[in-house]
Amino acid sequence: MKTILTGIRANSVLTLGNYLGALLPMVRLANKYSEEMNVNIFVPDLHSIVGEIDGDLQDNILRTLKYYLAAGLQVNKNVHIYRQSFIPAHSEICWILNCVATMGEMSRMTQYKEKSEGKSSCNVGIFDYPVLMAGDILLYSAEYVPVGEDQFQHVELARNIAERFNHRFGEVFVLPKTTDEQVKFMGSESGVRIRDLSNPEKKMSKSTVAAGSKIMLDDEPARAAKKIMSATTDSFGEVQYDIQERPGISNLLRILSLVTDKPIEAVIDRWAGETRYGELKKEVAEAVSGMLADFQAKLTTVSDTEVFELLSVGEEYARGVAEKKLLEVQKAVGLR
Ligand code: ATP
Ligand code: MG
Repeated sequence: MKTILTGIRANSVLTLGNYLGALLPMVRLANKYSEEMNVNIFVPDLHSIVGEIDGDLQDNILRTLKYYLAAGLQVNKNVHIYRQSFIPAHSEICWILNCVATMGEMSRMTQYKEKSEGKSSCNVGIFDYPVLMAGDILLYSAEYVPVGEDQFQHVELARNIAERFNHRFGEVFVLPKTTDEQVKFMGSESGVRIRDLSNPEKKMSKSTVAAGSKIMLDDEPARAAKKIMSATTDSFGEVQYDIQERPGISNLLRILSLVTDKPIEAVIDRWAGETRYGELKKEVAEAVSGMLADFQAKLTTVSDTEVFELLSVGEEYARGVAEKKLLEVQKAVGLR
């Protein structure tokens, strides 16, 4: 049986970008494929400690898992939910893969370049986490790894590392699919990149400090609406979808299309040529605040007990699969 795998760092409450770009697409894919594929949904808690943790890590982990259930994840025997650090094989395979990954390819990772830019010192974890991520994928022979566009490069890296390992030590790893194949698999859910509301040149990130630049899933709906109303747009004075030249307005159109589940073309048709940006903002603000209110209500119906029961079954499963693959790897490199 093939495996789909995904994770979202639990370093804080998630943003609307995480929800629209990763959580919701993953839930839809899981519900679509979980009769015929393994669906691994894990919290990369080791990745979470690479940077600052906003709040309590344990609370964040629990909440992140609840998000999947609140977003409509239907759990059956093929859906496996686990925490990365509860499966020690992740840390161990990371070291072995570190000895296969090269400084050159790691230094080309855009996320690392962005996150270390302008910092006088940054921790090794920020540089190395893509290798840990490669291990997260390869331990479970996951072929499909639905992620937001910013993570495509890391999935490609995992594929390259696996290919090099197999070449050097024998056919141990199943290669994750190429980006093109991943995109095809994800269909219309793929490649979403929600922009920062204040600085739409950048993507919305939960670790961005400025509160006005991101919508958090626990924002009061009215507060979220205010943030949309003050989003940076442009001075063209006419709505047009052009993500390069008019990223602010285009981002709002994209958000509207995703939140209302309408094709982007239909949303563009409706708004192109409109000269009152305020009207568009109002509509986006209403859609987003309505969505948040619904989501937050659903979240209250998911209990801690439900999550811990899923973790206990999921972690037993994950440990079994991961330890078996790790042993193969250890044998291949001569450690066993
Ligand atoms: P951080 O600033 O802590 O890196 P992040 O918002 O980038 O936070 P991650 O935990 O790195 O979130 O990524 C979780 C998932 O959310 C990934 O699949 C990633 O591709 C997706 N994602 C992150 N930001 C966006 C965004 N702005 N639009 C769409 N998807 C996103
Ligand atoms: Mg990120």
